Amino acid sequence: MKKSAILLVASLCSSVFASPAPKNIIMVVGDGMGPEYTTAYRMYMDDKSTPELEWTIFDRLLVGMASTHPHLSNGYVTDSAAAATALSTGIKTYNGAIGVDIDKKSVQTVLEFAKQQGRKTGVAVTSQINHATPAGFAAHNVSRQNYDEIANSYFDEKVNGQFKLDVMLGGGWKYFIRKDRNLVEEFKQAGYSYVDDMSQLAQLPTKQPVLGLFADVGLPWALDVQNKPRLPALVTTAVKQLENDKGFFLLVEGSQIDWGGHANDIAAAMGEMHDLGLTLEWLSHYVDSHPDTLFIVTADHSTGGMTIGARGEYNWDPEPLKHLRSSPEMLGKQLVDVNNRVSLANEQLGFELTKEEQQELTVIDSNDPKVFSKVIKKILDNRSVTGWTTGGHTGIDVQIFAKGPGSELFGGHRDNTDIAKTVFKLLGKK
Ligand code: MG
Ligand code: ZN
Repeated sequence: MKKSAILLVASLCSSVFASPAPKNIIMVVGDGMGPEYTTAYRMYMDDKSTPELEWTIFDRLLVGMASTHPHLSNGYVTDSAAAATALSTGIKTYNGAIGVDIDKKSVQTVLEFAKQQGRKTGVAVTSQINHATPAGFAAHNVSRQNYDEIANSYFDEKVNGQFKLDVMLGGGWKYFIRKDRNLVEEFKQAGYSYVDDMSQLAQLPTKQPVLGLFADVGLPWALDVQNKPRLPALVTTAVKQLENDKGFFLLVEGSQIDWGGHANDIAAAMGEMHDLGLTLEWLSHYVDSHPDTLFIVTADHSTGGMTIGARGEYNWDPEPLKHLRSSPEMLGKQLVDVNNRVSLANEQLGFELTKEEQQELTVIDSNDPKVFSKVIKKILDNRSVTGWTTGGHTGIDVQIFAKGPGSELFGGHRDNTDIAKTVFKLLGKK
């Protein structure tokens, strides 16, 4: 009697204090999204008609911080491949490694383990689907640069005799439709629905394997497909396709925050942050109505050494970044052939260039679009008071955000490998 009473108390306690293991797990990576990006995004989204600086979806979901360094024989600053491998396998490896350890041996990823357990799996990203981050979850290769081999492995490598990925959404025609091999045809013949335009996403037959490729390499910048949030469209489709009784594992990536950082392009970076922010808003609502789903968000590293307030000025002004009709990269291309550079720039930037800014644009004597976009980016940096220290990555810690059953396990300071280890446990790995 006494013993059963104790057991009853113990089982009550465990049911009260430990949330049940999630059926579905969605891991979200903001590539290059260091804390400076989520802070800048808060200011970018600030409602100026209120006295306070409103919280963003990132602020509402924050639970912890993570260190990002690769295997220490590679120093302290990671690339996306080593970081993805850390987040997917729980081991530290060398920069450039895709799902392999420092000795170049394959290590099982959380996505593969989920598949082995009978869950459905998918990737939904804004880069090519065989880029470092998704590849780090779904492939094993000694180098991230072996794009064709990684693409091939999505078809050739199986888990329990099944394809590794039930849903693949992102870019990558260049790697999947080649002279030597047409992986799109191979997937179609294997029973996958294929779409190559995002407008077709809504018409996909549900509960079937899907391959959706929407660009040669990465998708166009969010700024260049305005009013058509692209990552939210991919993620809502992926989730709908993956839902099933045994659960699913989905890897989502806001891939191009990093590309904005590498290009030192604050406007493009904020456009990418907003695309990811909208995705997280949707996922947060999804978890409210699907309490068996956990989602975890983190970054692989930060990029660009972006600075909120530069040149000794105690100021940062996101206003000039809010009205662009195209990305600085796209505007650079448009400016090469146009007669009236100033009027096109005014129109696309959404503000009037000053005399000095007009001068910088009109003196350009080049047919290189990059020369034009560089001037545009400089104007935007000056106006917003944004600084940059590098065209590469930085070693700063990144944030962890989570919601749903098990989210309490990601709090405090962690190493990025702990995230994978915890996800493995939640998926039932002993
Ligand atoms: Mg990436
Ligand atoms: Zn990068």
